[in-house]
Amino acid sequence: MGRGGLNTARVLVCALMIAVYLTSSKSVKAFELFHTEVRQIENLLNTKKYAEADSTALLLLEQALQQQEMPADTFSSLGQLLQDASRFEVAKAIFNAALERYTLEGRLNQMGVTLLQLATSERHLSNYTNAVTYVRRAMSIAQIERDDLLKARLNLELGIIQQEQGEIEAALEPLKNALRYFRENNMANEMSLSLLRIGEIYSLLNQSTLAHTYYQDAFDSIQSTGTPKLLGSIKTRMGELSLKSGAIKQAIQTINEGLTLLLSTNDVGAIAQAKMLMGKAFVESGEVAKGRALLQEAMQFASSSGQTKLMKEGRLALAQAYMKEQDFELALTEARTGTIDARKNRDIRGQLSFLSLQLSAFVSLGEFKKALDVQSVIQQLREVLLDSENKSAIEGLQAEIELVRQSRTLEKLEESKQLVLAQAERENLQTTLFWSVSLAALLLTFLVWSRYKQRQQTIILRREVRQQTLTLQEKNQELERAYKTLEEVSLRDPLTGLYNRHYLESQLPGEIRRSQFSAKQNPNNNKSKQDLLCLLIDIDHFKRINDDYGHIAGDKVLSAFAGVLKEVFRQTDLIIRWGGEEFLVVCRQSNREELPELAERCREMVARTSFDIGLEEPIYITCSIGFSLLPPDKEDDFDTAWKRTFAVVDYALYATKLSGRNGWVGVIETLETPRAHPTLLDTKFDFPGSRVATSFNNVASIQWPDTLDK
Ligand code: GH3
Ligand code: MG
Ligand code: MG
Repeated sequence: MGRGGLNTARVLVCALMIAVYLTSSKSVKAFELFHTEVRQIENLLNTKKYAEADSTALLLLEQALQQQEMPADTFSSLGQLLQDASRFEVAKAIFNAALERYTLEGRLNQMGVTLLQLATSERHLSNYTNAVTYVRRAMSIAQIERDDLLKARLNLELGIIQQEQGEIEAALEPLKNALRYFRENNMANEMSLSLLRIGEIYSLLNQSTLAHTYYQDAFDSIQSTGTPKLLGSIKTRMGELSLKSGAIKQAIQTINEGLTLLLSTNDVGAIAQAKMLMGKAFVESGEVAKGRALLQEAMQFASSSGQTKLMKEGRLALAQAYMKEQDFELALTEARTGTIDARKNRDIRGQLSFLSLQLSAFVSLGEFKKALDVQSVIQQLREVLLDSENKSAIEGLQAEIELVRQSRTLEKLEESKQLVLAQAERENLQTTLFWSVSLAALLLTFLVWSRYKQRQQTIILRREVRQQTLTLQEKNQELERAYKTLEEVSLRDPLTGLYNRHYLESQLPGEIRRSQFSAKQNPNNNKSKQDLLCLLIDIDHFKRINDDYGHIAGDKVLSAFAGVLKEVFRQTDLIIRWGGEEFLVVCRQSNREELPELAERCREMVARTSFDIGLEEPIYITCSIGFSLLPPDKEDDFDTAWKRTFAVVDYALYATKLSGRNGWVGVIETLETPRAHPTLLDTKFDFPGSRVATSFNNVASIQWPDTLDK
């Protein structure tokens, strides 16, 4: 998956790069193409080839629309170029295309600016209704975008439109609003333009001084930095003001200054206007023919560029010039044409101006009936104008109400947008919270689960361990029991239940050492019970029992014999089955003087006891005993001590047998001083002498088994 995914990603990235390259190169080419064409149009405008510029621009627009390639910004600046050169119709077409593009791209701010440009074009073409509509649309956008600069520009434009429509008082407010913004933001050119327009209004209101102040301010604010176009316009207006106040010479001079400035620009509209003013000034100064020529020149331009307002102004001035020359017929002709044009343009004020001229001309010609007719038309038109002014006032009010409504809607939209955003944010938060909580819950569940599992595991383990411990304990106990059994088996004689010789061997070294130790502690106390006594007991003629009554009977006798021994000796004495019918007894914490007594008691008890061997009559047996002090003399080494002791008791037992059985022979102690006549026992065991005891008549009557040694 990793490798495949990587390859797919590579292919996708390559495809994307190619696509981006193609798109960008295509638009770059398109951009370059349009850019060159725009340059060409600019050159045409600069060289005053207006018609060619118009057609090239329209062709370019067509091309752009066909290719679906519309670099809106390029077209917007092209439109501005055309507008600056007073090519308003073409500019309008270009701006409309740009507006469409901006709308598609959703570029609100650019839409606002373009609408303003369109409004300016429409205003120049005297399409005031359209112009106002554009301004209001743009104003809505400025409200949305909170674009104060655009608002100020729109206010300036609106003021100009209203002024040109004759709504001069209404125009003051937007113009002053615009001026305030431009002044606050140090926008000299715009400020100057606003001042100029305000000045024009005061001029129209015949407040010449105020108008002059504004013109002067407009001029001063851009004197060093202003464009010749604006400076020229201001100068022209100043000249107009002079003309109005009758300072004709001053007017001609100032207008000339303005015209000179304007002639360096390609603003043919402004040039035409300046020429017209100049023409008027010449007419006023008496140089009527010179004036008329200038007026006609201006009118020609106005007619060619569709500037009806300029056209009207020119025609009005021309008609007035004819009147001044008392050429009433020509004045009348111009006035009639002007009236018709104004009617076409639904320009009531224009109609009224031209009709007033007609009235004067008719009166001057003495045609009073016609003059009266014109008078009644004038009257009717005045009423219509009053109505339309009311109407337009109402429309303005409605538009304002609409604007307020729109801005309310916008505010509401903004509010609901904020609400939606807040809601989205809340939902986002909730989602985040939900996932966080889910994750935490999952984690917790996992933790609890693993903890539970762990505990379960621990419980199982513990149970297993307990079980195993129990088993182990059982096994241990079993083992212990087995071991014990084994031990018992190995240390005890199964027939009699007495200890065997292994047990004796395990116990004896300790016993001997203890005895030797206490002997050393109390070397002279012969009465103390610190001696170990050793007796070897053998059943007499036991073979005969086996022979006469059988082996089982023999076993029974052996068992019963053990019982007798247990009765004779103390519990603390060690009673050992030494082998066959031979038994060894070691008495602890005893005194050597007890030996003959013990031996006799044993002999006597055995002889007295009746042994039940399962017959009608019990049988009686006897036993022989040999004994010794253990060890017979002071020997430190256990092995030697035990070997000598056993040898002594065995020898003594043998002597008992030889001496007639059912009796005892034993060594009570060895002597330190040698005897004059050592016994066979002394000789045999290298005793200096010994104290011997016997159940037989006396020591001399003992039959020592010396013959065996030989
Ligand atoms: P003595 O008086 O000289 O000791 O004669 P005895 O017959 O007792 O001695 P001997 O050593 O000649 O015979 C001992 C017999 O004891 C031989 C053997 O068959 C018998 N015996 C040894 N151990 C057992 C035993 O566990 N059970 C039985 N029934 N007989 C045994
Ligand atoms: Mg024997
Ligand atoms: Mg025997």
